[in-house]
Amino acid sequence: MNGHFSEALLMAIQDTLERGEQVLLFQNRRGFAPQQECQSCGHVPHCKHCDVSLTYHKSTHRLRCHYCGYAEKTSTNCKACNNHDVKLKGFGTEKIEDELQGFFPEQVIRRMDLDTTRKKDSYENILNAFEDQEIDILVGTQMISKGLDFSHVGLVGVLSADQMLNFPDFRAFERAFQMLCQVSGRAGRKKSESQVIIQSFEPNHEILKLVKGHNYKDLLKGQLVERQAFRYPPYFRLIHILVRHRNRRVAEQASSFLATAMRTVFEQRVLGPEYPAFERLKGYYQKQILLKVERDLSYSDSKQKLSRFVNGLLSHDNFKGVKVRVDVDPF
Ligand SMILES: [Zn+2]
Ligand SMILES: [Zn+2]
Repeated sequence: MNGHFSEALLMAIQDTLERGEQVLLFQNRRGFAPQQECQSCGHVPHCKHCDVSLTYHKSTHRLRCHYCGYAEKTSTNCKACNNHDVKLKGFGTEKIEDELQGFFPEQVIRRMDLDTTRKKDSYENILNAFEDQEIDILVGTQMISKGLDFSHVGLVGVLSADQMLNFPDFRAFERAFQMLCQVSGRAGRKKSESQVIIQSFEPNHEILKLVKGHNYKDLLKGQLVERQAFRYPPYFRLIHILVRHRNRRVAEQASSFLATAMRTVFEQRVLGPEYPAFERLKGYYQKQILLKVERDLSYSDSKQKLSRFVNGLLSHDNFKGVKVRVDVDPF
């Protein structure tokens, strides 16, 4: 690998540019590096309001939270131990743009993500410039994956399929398949010779084989078997309940109270409470409870029972200020 580029991808970019065609590169993460990590004590800067590590943005020299927008200036010293051996880990669109400019100093390279399209018209301006072939290489997030028809694109590259495949969600494979097929579809719709390169540390991954064969049917078959075995939609209704409070103990007690009440009726269909991927978001501690209900169970009856338990929690004197969000079959 050269930086985050394989030899094959770099060669293909070179060939495509020499043919006078354009290149589209997909990296589903914005910013420069997802994390800054201290090499001495392992400290990673986190958001003040969320349990989320901050993303380094090179152009603004800031660390930003992608959930609440909190930002702070980067420092060259570790805030925990004051060591100055602080390294960046992982990569985002900004880093890819930066590396590319090093490999192809003569080419016009632009980036399309949430950060470069905040200003009015900037989204259209980048697209128009690309369609008019004023840009040689466009690097972008999922923003570039949809609906646009670029007739001079000779190569589409995906920097890391692994980030999508390893996402902790029961729909991760479905989404990865969908996104990879969509991105691949950007390759020269009017040309037959265009190429798609997907980088991965697991090139034999079952999902990548299906993407390669555009094999939607086998994806569906495999996913349905798994969904049924693990009690997920469409076989089961998934009700996701999020209990939030500014105080960690109250959030914990309130969610246990609710789960215990729910178990008296729903029994083993209740999972949790658990901490979700992010323990704290926007100043609130959160715990989640999952309810998996069979499709053939009366839904309106289950819903009524659930809202009775939720109301019991919300009107309880010990749980003032608790917020509850109920999502049915969340997508
Ligand atoms: Zn440190
Ligand atoms: Zn935040």
